[in-house]
Amino acid sequence: CSTLRLLLGDQLDRHHPWFESADDNVLYVLAELRQEATYVRHHIQKIAAFFAAMHCFAEALKSCGHRVVLLDLDETADFDDLPALLDHLLEVTGADRFEYQRPDEHRLLTQLEAYRGRIDQPSSCCRSHHFLLPFDAIRDSFPADRQLRMETFYRRMRKRHGILVDDDGTPTGGQWNYDKQNRKPLPEDVELPEPLCFDNDAGALTDRIRRHGIDTLGTMEGDRLDWPVCRTQSLELLEYFTEHLLAGFGRYQDALSSRGWALFHSRLSFALNAKILSPREVIERVLDAWRGDPDNVPLAAVEGFVRQILGWREYMRGIYWSRMPGYADCNELDHRNELPAFYWNGETRMACMRHAIGQSLEHAYAHHIQRLMVTGNFALLAGVDPDAVDTWYLGIYIDAVQWVELPNTRGMSQYADGGVVASKPYAASGNYINRMGDHCADCHYDAGTRSGDTACPFNCLYWHFMERHREWQKQNPRSGMIYRNWDRMDEQRRSAILDTAERYLKAIDEL
Ligand code: FAD
Ligand code: SF4
Repeated sequence: CSTLRLLLGDQLDRHHPWFESADDNVLYVLAELRQEATYVRHHIQKIAAFFAAMHCFAEALKSCGHRVVLLDLDETADFDDLPALLDHLLEVTGADRFEYQRPDEHRLLTQLEAYRGRIDQPSSCCRSHHFLLPFDAIRDSFPADRQLRMETFYRRMRKRHGILVDDDGTPTGGQWNYDKQNRKPLPEDVELPEPLCFDNDAGALTDRIRRHGIDTLGTMEGDRLDWPVCRTQSLELLEYFTEHLLAGFGRYQDALSSRGWALFHSRLSFALNAKILSPREVIERVLDAWRGDPDNVPLAAVEGFVRQILGWREYMRGIYWSRMPGYADCNELDHRNELPAFYWNGETRMACMRHAIGQSLEHAYAHHIQRLMVTGNFALLAGVDPDAVDTWYLGIYIDAVQWVELPNTRGMSQYADGGVVASKPYAASGNYINRMGDHCADCHYDAGTRSGDTACPFNCLYWHFMERHREWQKQNPRSGMIYRNWDRMDEQRRSAILDTAERYLKAIDEL
């Protein structure tokens, strides 16, 4: 062949211009790589899903006449890393040109740029065409010296793409935001649809992963992979979402419940992040569902969903690329504690944490509010080092790729960026979790108590956090009222709460 084109595990986009026509002079390469399976300890389902999706993609390309080679872990084991494998491939194929799509992770971008710089063959890097905001527009949209809030960015994106915007430039339905109608707890009598799971046999893959001694976390029951790994399954999941879940999405998007592990969430993040689905087609499908049946698919639900993909997803990518590489090290609150051991096994008496961590280990999935207001909130209140928090989030979730994991974890949930993403820390007491869910009723701890042996840890740790950061929080006008209430409290009660928090922090693994 004369051109070797590399495809990474999150570049599985059938509609990329590369694949418009087959060319015998081009060889596509995909590879199961040890470096990708070990840069952090990943959930077994995450590695299996990316590898399985690569295999499906290779087959799909071959069936369209493209020349493709997929190397498995056995075949790549002798190469230390991606550059070593590429050296070998360029030599054995005799390719006189190397091409790749721009990686979305800084780690891989720098590795491939360095590689390009040292090889003799001419090379080029092209766009991935996946996102709605082209990479070249990030610099202007996210100026380093100004803070761009998600809401501002999202409205601009709605106008830029004419999504839910009327001809006169006003938002469809009259509002940009339907948060008031959305975000309700889940009533007991609302029936939850079963999550659509696929029955992919990942036995051969997991054997290989284990045989190569790759350290993983989490479980996969019977080597069956629930996640969609090809385009057909991903489109099926999208259809399932629009038909059964979309109508309830907005209203219950912030609900917490022990009755299910995905509630009305789409579980499309893996298919999106691997680029099997494009954000544009997901948005279009949801808009079509609403246009076709506006009586049953509320605009508030559609707007709430579009906001996640056109707003949050694109926004997080903009933050990542406008702030990297420094963003990966920020620790504004100077948090240094270790991640409690129960994050790795779910063994805690806190019912909300047990549920969120347990399902993360079992399904490689937790929905947004579990990530933000349960596990993320707890790590923030407990002063855990954001490096440790990142390592956990980057490993455990099926959809965890750094460009989206990092701004969500370090920025949104840990406030380690000092307010780039969130205007104030997402710190909350047990009251929030109690209001939004049903976990507290079955918990060892008491959501209504702030001190003593059965005090909800979120309660006392919340006040401990607020006290620890009093000086710094004072700058935030929205915190004034909270401190006024706290300061009015009887001195003895305040010390009892802070003492309980101290005790909990000292024996945190036992909570
Ligand atoms: P739904 O609730 O159905 O939402 C639809 C889609 O919107 C998602 O598939 C996703 O593509 C997008 N979306 C929603 N919220 C966000 C957000 N805050 N940022 C970016 N996209 C969003 N998302 C990831 O894709 N990868 C991650 O590694 C990741 N890590 C996170 C870590 C923390 C601490 C937090 C608080 C959030 C994280 N998120 C991450 C965002 C969000 O929680 C997941 O995208 C979502 O839970 C995926 O489930 P879903 O597909 O059912 O989403
Ligand atoms: Fe979680 Fe506290 Fe409620 Fe228990 S009481 S479920 S720890 S919020």
